[in-house]
Amino acid sequence: MSPFKIGVLNGDDIGHEIVPAAVRVAQAAAALHGVEIDWRPVPIGRSALDSHGSTMPEGTLETLAALDGFILGPIGHQAYPKGPGAINPHPILRKHFDLFANVRPTRSYPGIGCIYDDIDLVIVRENNEGFQPDRNVVAGSGEFRPNDDLTISVRVISRKGSRKVAKAALDLARSRRKKLTLVHKNTVFKLGCGMFVEECYKAAADYPDVTVDEVIVDTFAMRLVRDPQTFDTVVTTNMFGDILTDEAAGLVGGLGMAPGLCIGEGNIAMAQATHGSAPDIAGKGVANPYAMIYSTAMLLDFLGRSRDVPASVAAARLIERALCVALADPATRTRDIRGTAGTQGMTDAIVRALGQTT
Ligand code: ATP
Repeated sequence: MSPFKIGVLNGDDIGHEIVPAAVRVAQAAAALHGVEIDWRPVPIGRSALDSHGSTMPEGTLETLAALDGFILGPIGHQAYPKGPGAINPHPILRKHFDLFANVRPTRSYPGIGCIYDDIDLVIVRENNEGFQPDRNVVAGSGEFRPNDDLTISVRVISRKGSRKVAKAALDLARSRRKKLTLVHKNTVFKLGCGMFVEECYKAAADYPDVTVDEVIVDTFAMRLVRDPQTFDTVVTTNMFGDILTDEAAGLVGGLGMAPGLCIGEGNIAMAQATHGSAPDIAGKGVANPYAMIYSTAMLLDFLGRSRDVPASVAAARLIERALCVALADPATRTRDIRGTAGTQGMTDAIVRALGQTT
C-alpha cells in the first residue's frame, strides 16, 4: 500500500498548537499499526498572508486535490487585515471539494463537566447551502443590501444538496444505532425545509433498516438539553447545524470537545474541529487539543474505510481509547475540562496512552 498523503494546514491562533498535537498523535498511532502517512504541510491563514501574500496562496487547491485528505486548523479570518489576499479559506475549501456533509460527534466522558454522562450522538450538518452567504451561491454573496434600510439574506435549499447530505447521514446511522432524526422547521419554511424533509424521506426509502423520525428545530434545541440520550444520528440544514453543534458541545465540556469531519461523495475528506481559532487563549499553551485530535482520528477512520485499510481504522480506534485515558485524569486534561494540564501535557499523555492501550 502506498502511504496516505495527508495535508497539514495549521490555520490561525491555537491552530499552531493543536494541529501539530493532532499530527503527533496520529503519527504515533499510525506507526503502531504500520500505517504509512506522508504528511504534507500546506501554508494557510495569517502566516501564509505574511509569507506568500495570501491567506490561501495560489495553487493550494491543486496541491490539496493530489492528497487523500487534510487537516484544517481553525481559521481566525475575522482578524485578517482588510485587503487583497486576505480571504476566508474554509468556505472555499468546503465548496471546491464538495464537502457537503459536516459530521460532528458529541459524546460524554466522566469527570470533565458533562451535563449528562451518557451522550453519544452525531449531528450531520449540511455544509454548502442554507443560510451561509459565503458559500450558498457560486458567484457573489447570498446576502445583499439594495438600499441602506434593507438587507436580504438568501437561504438556499436544493433537492440534490438535501438528498446528498441525507444519504451521508443515513450511511452513518446505518453504521451506528440505525436511527436518524431530521431537524427542520417546515412549519414555517414550508418550501425550503419542506424540500429538505421530502428529499430526506426519499433517500431513506433505500435504508429500510434505519428508523427515521423528525423534530422541529426549536423543540430539538430544548430536547438536546433535556434528553440528548434519545438521539443518535441527526441531520439538519447548515445554519441550524452550526448552532446546534455548539449547543451539543456545551453539554459535554465545551468547544474543545467538539470534533468534525467534512466529507463529500469523493475520496477526499477534511478534518476540522467545530471551534474557532480562540485568539483569547492562543500562544498560552492551554488549548484543548481533543477536538483536533479526534477530528484527525475521524480522518484516519474515513481513509481506512474508503481505501480498505483496516489498520488505519484500528489506528483511529486506538486514538479514541488513548483520549479516554488522558481525559480520565485531571492531571492530563486541559483546564477547560476541569484539568490542570496544558496542550503539551495532554498531548504527551495521549501519546503515552497509545503505547499502553494497543
Ligand atoms: P468561530 O465563529 O470562528 O467558530 P467562535 O466565535 O465560536 O469562533 P472560538 O474561537 O471557537 O469562537 O472560541 C469561543 C470560546 O471557546 C473562547 O473563549 C475560546 O477560548 C474557547 N475555545 C475554543 N476552542 C477551544 C479549545 N480548543 N480549547 C479551549 N478553549 C477553547
